[in-house]
Amino acid sequence: MIQNKKEKSELMLFGIPASPGIAHGPVFRFLHDEVKVATYHVSESDQEEEIRRFLEALEVTKSEIRKIREDVAKNLGEKEAGIFDAHMLVLEDRALIDDVIKEVKESGENVEKCVHRVTEKYLSFFDQLEDKYLRERAVDLRDISNRLQRCLSGTTASGTAFLDEPKILVSEDLTPSDTAALDRSKILGIATDSGGQTSHAVIMARASGVPAVVGLRNLSDKLSDGDELLIDGFEGVAIINPSETTLFRYGKVDVQRHRLLKLVESESNLPSQTADGKKINIWANADTPQEVEKAIECGCLGVGLFRTESLFLRTNSLPTEDQQYEDYVRMVKSANGKTVTIRTLDLGGDKLLDGWNQQKEANPFMGFRAIRYCLSNPNVFLVQLRAILRASAHGNVRILLPMISGIGEVIRAKELITEAMDELKERGEKFDSLIKVGCMIETPAAVAICDLLAEEADFFSIGTNDLVQYLLAVDRVNNEIAFLYEPHHPAVLRSLKHVANIANTHDLPVTVCGEIAGDPHFLPLLMGLGFDSFSASASMVPELKFFARRFSQEDILKITKDSEKKKRPSEVKQLIKDFHEARVSEASVVQN
Ligand code: PEP
Ligand code: MG
Repeated sequence: MIQNKKEKSELMLFGIPASPGIAHGPVFRFLHDEVKVATYHVSESDQEEEIRRFLEALEVTKSEIRKIREDVAKNLGEKEAGIFDAHMLVLEDRALIDDVIKEVKESGENVEKCVHRVTEKYLSFFDQLEDKYLRERAVDLRDISNRLQRCLSGTTASGTAFLDEPKILVSEDLTPSDTAALDRSKILGIATDSGGQTSHAVIMARASGVPAVVGLRNLSDKLSDGDELLIDGFEGVAIINPSETTLFRYGKVDVQRHRLLKLVESESNLPSQTADGKKINIWANADTPQEVEKAIECGCLGVGLFRTESLFLRTNSLPTEDQQYEDYVRMVKSANGKTVTIRTLDLGGDKLLDGWNQQKEANPFMGFRAIRYCLSNPNVFLVQLRAILRASAHGNVRILLPMISGIGEVIRAKELITEAMDELKERGEKFDSLIKVGCMIETPAAVAICDLLAEEADFFSIGTNDLVQYLLAVDRVNNEIAFLYEPHHPAVLRSLKHVANIANTHDLPVTVCGEIAGDPHFLPLLMGLGFDSFSASASMVPELKFFARRFSQEDILKITKDSEKKKRPSEVKQLIKDFHEARVSEASVVQN
């Protein structure tokens, strides 16, 4: 029975606030790509109907692919859209079509089963091929096969290209490659059953300013067709079928938020400094060349962290040197002479490519990740290093090495950088031979030996997302223990202070680039610990600058001293929250 919206009762669920903002709208249930294949017998007289269904599904799937291709070309570029040409070729492959028709006639089974059997046969053939390029085409065939199955069974495709109106995306979980494939203009908000505050899918949502709540446990089980959802990305709340009273209440919060954002925007061109003129260096984190453009527009010093794995995830492949070079050079050019910090590949943990690492790891975040993968696969690493170096001929580029846990890794990476330079010299290519090489401080080991690392590195960038998980032994994407993931923990604050002291003594530039760098609450405290350089999601930069102008160096000293007296993370959290709220509401009152 179709329920009337008014009869549906409100249900409130509590999760983890992941990206600020309020969103309300119809639900879009995001499905992963596993598809169940129905199997049943079909009489001879019905076989023609099965074949007709198959041919119709082929046409529908082709028009879906055409639409996705158009969207990707518009949003990412013609080159990325080219991936879908291969999909079209599969759909038009006469041998495959004939095989399915023959299978329907000979097996006496439904067309879903026949499509499945034929594509599996092709897939196992692809699997045995020596040629890596052809082997990788299996991914296209798998995707096409899933789309055909979904079309035959009448289920919605997992992508967002077909949404006719913006909706709230609900999913059990969301991987970075899922998020990379989303059309963000069609997503009002994101709510997931699992995930943590710094999972990479969430970082991407925050970068595009989409409100998100994660760790809602069984939200997707509780939703039925036609439900509406309100999410509060400040407090981590999701409300199914909010009542008129709730909508009114949140409407007021939303109005206040918009009022504040307007104020923030009106000051976005003012310098980045405290009320008494202490300068603050604000950089942007970016995943795509488009985000770099946005960051430069909002007056950032440059790009403090460009996560190169994004291109690998978007294309679900190891891109060639030229593909990577084009991505980097486009970004370097958009940066208009400002410095761009390109971090070398940080795959692993929650950032995985299909079929990339065959061996399932028990502890992926502590496993074959980032610099470890690159040093074990020098050929993959050298391709990337050459692409970065070539891009350095077009602007100001720095190289950043992720997940360093020992000095040997930095030394080996620098040797490979020299090797990549030698190869480019031989080819007669230009690059910046004095390029700066920095390392991420994001493991407890790197904190402990940062004095040694300071001798090898040209700069430090502190990745608090990982540092918190490794210091506190709390998996950053596990919602069961998300309450233990506390960047306000004294162990984190003391570690940060130590790194700031060492970097300042060595006169080494240091930037905080984890998500706390974009959280305005943290700003005075981080400054008190000894930092004046932050790299944050471009969407958070204007708010950071706005808040900075509302406190002085005296406030910084006081809040840092007060925080050092607190023993519990929750007390530090409250302290910086109260300070932020007081200053922001003062500013709003003054303006009104
Ligand atoms: C970090 O760990 O804080 C960081 C910036 O890197 P990522 O989130 O990509 O692991
Ligand atoms: Mg990290």
